[in-house]
Amino acid sequence: MISDNLRKVEQEIRDSCALVSRQPKDVTLIAVTKTVDTETTIELVQQGVTHLAENRMEKFLEKKEKMSAFSNVSWHFIGNLQRRKVKSVINEIDFFHALDSIKLASEIQKRATKKINCFVELNISGEESKHGIPPKELETFIQQLEPYDQICVVGLMTMAPFDSTIEEQHQLFAHLKTLQEDIERKKLPFAPCTETSMGMSNDFAIAIQEGATFVRVGTALFKE
Ligand SMILES: *Cc1c(COP(=O)(O)O)cnc(C)c1O
Repeated sequence: MISDNLRKVEQEIRDSCALVSRQPKDVTLIAVTKTVDTETTIELVQQGVTHLAENRMEKFLEKKEKMSAFSNVSWHFIGNLQRRKVKSVINEIDFFHALDSIKLASEIQKRATKKINCFVELNISGEESKHGIPPKELETFIQQLEPYDQICVVGLMTMAPFDSTIEEQHQLFAHLKTLQEDIERKKLPFAPCTETSMGMSNDFAIAIQEGATFVRVGTALFKE
């Protein structure tokens, strides 16, 4: 049952916060609804979830259209967004979690009709299959974003490798947190960078212990 799953996830968020003396209100649960239909998504929203994430343009646009009555929902786009799809997607979302190239940034700049909240995606583990920029390129990348006045860098995003150990997950999420704080400290008007989007079904408890402010949870909410 979705409501039971949701209660379990919310409890785990509270427990993880308690472990490190954080406030649950400082962690936003994003329900990743990419594997479920509109009806199931609505069920979740009726249980009180207000942040939803999708990763495919067509499915996202269809779902958003069908759910237009739910005006309190914030829509997140996670995962790779091809440049030719930016035009159709970017003004429909509240947060974009996968900014990882200047080419993509200029396309967003060109197509945006409002300021877009973006997370810069980092590839911390160095896995070749992963999107995201390497940590050593982050500072330069952020500086290069300054001219793009339609982009607001709200934070950093990363994913842990599927087969990583708990110890490795701690290290990787702590690393993202450090990178985020380094940028935040610069107080750049175009990159406040106060947020970290990290943690999925398998590892959100660890990500919260390391300071995640947004967790992206799919499977744990929809499993039978
Ligand atoms: C699918 C996906 C998630 C959710 O993963 P689960 O393991 O199902 O919780 C989170 N983030 C990204 C970028 C995803 O693609």
